[in-house]
Amino acid sequence: MGSIGAMPAELDASVINVTRTTAPRDVPLPGSPEELSHSHCTDHMVTVRWTAEQGWETPEVKPFQNLSIPPTASCLHYATECFEGMKVYRGYDGKLRLFRPDLNGERLSNSAIRASLPSFRFEELKLLIAKLMQVDGLRWLPKSQPGRFLYLRPTLIGSGTQLGVQAPKEALLFIIAVPWPDPSTRLKSTPGEASGLKLLASQPDTIRAWPGGFGYAKLGANYGPSLAAHGKAQAQGFDQVLWLFGDDRQVTEAGASNFFIVWENAETGKRELVTAPLENQLILPGVTRRSVLELARSRLTQSVGDLKPVEVVEKTFTITDVEKAWKEGRIVESFVCGTAFFITPVKLIRDGDVDIHLLKAGEKAEYAATIKSWLEAIMYGKEGAESDKWAYLIEGESEK
Ligand code: PLP
Repeated sequence: MGSIGAMPAELDASVINVTRTTAPRDVPLPGSPEELSHSHCTDHMVTVRWTAEQGWETPEVKPFQNLSIPPTASCLHYATECFEGMKVYRGYDGKLRLFRPDLNGERLSNSAIRASLPSFRFEELKLLIAKLMQVDGLRWLPKSQPGRFLYLRPTLIGSGTQLGVQAPKEALLFIIAVPWPDPSTRLKSTPGEASGLKLLASQPDTIRAWPGGFGYAKLGANYGPSLAAHGKAQAQGFDQVLWLFGDDRQVTEAGASNFFIVWENAETGKRELVTAPLENQLILPGVTRRSVLELARSRLTQSVGDLKPVEVVEKTFTITDVEKAWKEGRIVESFVCGTAFFITPVKLIRDGDVDIHLLKAGEKAEYAATIKSWLEAIMYGKEGAESDKWAYLIEGESEK
């Protein structure tokens, strides 16, 4: 595409070049070792090069292949990397859908700015994904298997040759699609125990994000340094770290998901759905978090079946508040939400030598289950799904 006059070119999905593979890969069976490996990608990928001089080049859909970047590339030395986590869903009506993809596009563009990478017209991201799925959709998410999904990983890296410490002058956007196990099958179920996550509260010697930092951006630099704590938690039988922040030990988020609690407010006696706020930029502004809040604000202001109405509150709260509410019997349930884990109840939080039990055997996190069913209806185009505006339909899937 190149530049028009002196203006670097915008990212433009409409001019994409498509090169098809001549050696299609095996599609892993659900639950197979290949699927569980999280590494077996579909037949094709999207790549788009960017240079500071010319801007965005012509996007390509091409056979899945390794990248070639110089050992001096900025991403390898200075963590100029950001990414997104999304899914493409095969609906019960046979159609392919993305869920609120412009929110991911906008977040990727914002993350790029935080990492000195090029931003772009965020609406283009969903169009690039649509092009990839028009090629890979039918084979990797057959119409005969509604209710399945692929995980999508759009990624942007600083890829140029210059080792000097500076903002990258070259970058590469790529999108890969990976068969992924259903998150509900990943929960270990122990007989006599409720099915839910066990969270280990972080200790003050490890902080995930801080004011003025980049916790709000989806940068690889947020994840690498947190993996040791995650590994230690897993070695002790926990699923995720519950990240606390500050001297008062504020509850922020849990692993790669946002954290919610439903409790009765001690002062007002009102039932509240509470989660950490976005203003201090400590947590990732999750697409699922936002959707949970919007659904709760529109549908849980009144009773739904046996569920009492809730007030939706985004505010700072501490692990001491959680422990106090638990001791006073005010906690109704807790759950985490995110694209990878979807909506999953929390059954236990361990903070030092205190175990906060949130879900007993035989109990169900009813708010979590109800909100999950609303979201699933939208993602998979189930009958009666409201908020259809959140689903982006991918049309034009090709047989070849
Ligand atoms: N918090 C962190 C740190 C994450 O990595 C994720 C997952 O991307 C989330 C929250 C949930 O965000 P989303 O709902 O957009 O997947």
